[in-house]
Amino acid sequence: MQTWRSVAVPRVPGTPPPLRLHDTATGQLRPTAPGPEAKMYVCGITPYDATHLGHAATYLAFDLVHRLWRDAGHDVHYVQNVTDIDEPLLERAERDHEDWVVLGRRETALFREDMEALRVLPPREFVGAVESIPEIVEMIGELLANGSAYRAEDPVHPDIYFDRSYTGRFGYESNYDEATMAGFFAERGGDPGRPGKRDPLDALLWRLARPGEPSRESELGAGRPGWHVQCSAIALNRLGLRFDVQGGGSDLVFPHHEYSAAHAEALTGDHPFAGHYVHAGMIGLAGEKMSKSKGNLVLVSRLRADDVDPSAMRLALFAGHYRTDRGWTDELLHQAQERLARWREATSAQAGPAAEGTIAKLRDRLADDLDTPSALGAVDAWVVDALEHRGTDTDAPASIRNAVDALLGVAL
Ligand code: ZN
Repeated sequence: MQTWRSVAVPRVPGTPPPLRLHDTATGQLRPTAPGPEAKMYVCGITPYDATHLGHAATYLAFDLVHRLWRDAGHDVHYVQNVTDIDEPLLERAERDHEDWVVLGRRETALFREDMEALRVLPPREFVGAVESIPEIVEMIGELLANGSAYRAEDPVHPDIYFDRSYTGRFGYESNYDEATMAGFFAERGGDPGRPGKRDPLDALLWRLARPGEPSRESELGAGRPGWHVQCSAIALNRLGLRFDVQGGGSDLVFPHHEYSAAHAEALTGDHPFAGHYVHAGMIGLAGEKMSKSKGNLVLVSRLRADDVDPSAMRLALFAGHYRTDRGWTDELLHQAQERLARWREATSAQAGPAAEGTIAKLRDRLADDLDTPSALGAVDAWVVDALEHRGTDTDAPASIRNAVDALLGVAL
């Protein structure tokens, strides 16, 4: 798929510390240790509705990972998918009497516009599930061949399922107990009650065509892929096993990331799928998680139409830590707009206090599991001094402006 346009990223002098991130699988804060090429896969949208601030918060968190790795001199191989064939998209198209392909294309185009406006650096590869069906079919064929996948005992629709007991490590990514797994599996797209499976928590790999449902011809029979195997194949085929970061919102911890990892590990006989499993918190509105089903969405495109500066959206979301579930309020946005105005005023002055210490602190705070609240605080401290004319360094305002642009993606 076509990705979106990148903005230029200024170089920042100095040496950044290694980036440490919280890993869900081990429950620890651990340094990322990429080679010359840093590899990241972040689960993309299911394009049936416009980008809301919950999505934006997730992609902005991983945009920081992208920027910090670039700052450290890595070539970043970033892959993101689009789940352009799955139940929620097909249901929405049906409800609105719309062609699912048209709906998916329109919402994907709007997502690109939103990401570009937010100055999110684009993935190197932006990959749709539909265009990846041949490689997904190949992966499922190999899983069938090695015995980690099987056909459901159903004479009419022998769909293909994944045997979750195959790797012997199932559950290591989420660390959830059986009851928690069962709850999330049922709640997040699983089919525990489907007859003909070996285990209620075995996940769908290939759904054979039903009348009126979209399908593709394949050696598995006409049908369409399950959700988790889409990301598993797309990531594995582009990044290989043991890529650096698998990312997404915290609602993907289980089942999505657990099965994506298990599929790839069953195929290769090796582990782990990713070095870090990194999850962003949810954004709420008036105490409730922002979600399509609740209808309480604040859309990035709506804010843009209201002339809200995307840099203010970034600062509002960065005012809280990426792993924390947090609320969106008008007050939060207002404070971010005021902060942005102060930063712009200070960095357009003729001189300011020396920038090096502030830039080192900014890097240090971001490298500590993307501690954006403290990172913004470091810039605030410089801004206060600059606005009180406590500095004569004529290079400093431009240095701070560059660092804030490169590391936070905020345009001053
Ligand atoms: Zn995914």
